[in-house]
Amino acid sequence: MAKMMALQKPTAAAGAKLIEAEIPKCGPLDVLVSVKATSICGTDVHIYEWDAWAAGRIKPPLIFGHEMAGEVIEVGNTVKGFSVGDHVSAETHISCGACFQCRTGNSHICEQVKILGVDTQGVFAEYVALPASNAWKNDKSFPHDVATAQEPLGNAVHTVFDGDDANLAGQTVTMFGCGPIGTVACAVCKAAGANKVIAIDINDYKLSLAKKFGADVLINASTQDVVKEVLAQTNGKGADVFLEMSGAPSAFSQGLKSLRAGGRASILGIPSKPVEINLATEIVFKSAKIQGINGRLMYKTWYRAASLLSSGKVKLQELVTHKFPMSEFEKAFETMMSGKSGKIVMYPGK
Ligand SMILES: [Zn+2]
Ligand SMILES: [Zn+2]
Repeated sequence: MAKMMALQKPTAAAGAKLIEAEIPKCGPLDVLVSVKATSICGTDVHIYEWDAWAAGRIKPPLIFGHEMAGEVIEVGNTVKGFSVGDHVSAETHISCGACFQCRTGNSHICEQVKILGVDTQGVFAEYVALPASNAWKNDKSFPHDVATAQEPLGNAVHTVFDGDDANLAGQTVTMFGCGPIGTVACAVCKAAGANKVIAIDINDYKLSLAKKFGADVLINASTQDVVKEVLAQTNGKGADVFLEMSGAPSAFSQGLKSLRAGGRASILGIPSKPVEINLATEIVFKSAKIQGINGRLMYKTWYRAASLLSSGKVKLQELVTHKFPMSEFEKAFETMMSGKSGKIVMYPGK
């Protein structure tokens, strides 16, 4: 049996381990992918650090990771639409196809959803067997180490358009949190015609990255009064749209306080604890529209993201700030946890 190198969470404790694992078998519904590039997501950091969420969800040993780009080397015998040699990335929500949500066009919130690299063997490996229904074909001109960042771009696209066809033309947007998703979301807002994107973070490195992606105004929430600054930028009216990408408890009340009456709030950030907000003044009297955002629409979001990329209106190249061979995974995770990075790419088998 041929072996491969993979990055595994071996036990219920912090850290990870490079192992030799068996190459997964390509099932009848799968494509077997030779993984060329992977990228580290916030979820992977939770797993690496072994926080309370990871301890409650992950069952070691597990090969983790879910963001990737690679090449199809085998196609399951019932699979249609994929061929050996296709370049692919992965949608990470593996849906059941049979539940109420799946059958009503909402498979991204499938009742039986499994997450790649969380509930199933992940992509931090030289090979992964991926359900073909979760494979997304990439244009071959698109470098693997950029294509791997499409999954967070999908989160950004889903949030910016509110999962639907929200019109951003001429609007002012607050972007709370400038990790890779918030950063690339700035470019998506500009491509969609937003007039002014106000990026908010406590980290100057991340704010400078957001500026490269089109943010018009930068606010450092650790030194500036966010609500006052946003109101000053909007003639006292407040922002038309509030996009929450940080999960920071303070961001929810600041975002709602600086939102105009009748404005829209779309929330992707995940706070680790319940958050207190004044429902009466921040939502009810304000007539605010609020939507939670989970994953990406399958596959409306992917088509939209792909056309934003091929139009050149959104570029992912500068989002990837660091590249490491997977053998240097410790350095890669430390860099990610330092807060001074955009997307970090790891190359398996190196
Ligand atoms: Zn991710
Ligand atoms: Zn389902």
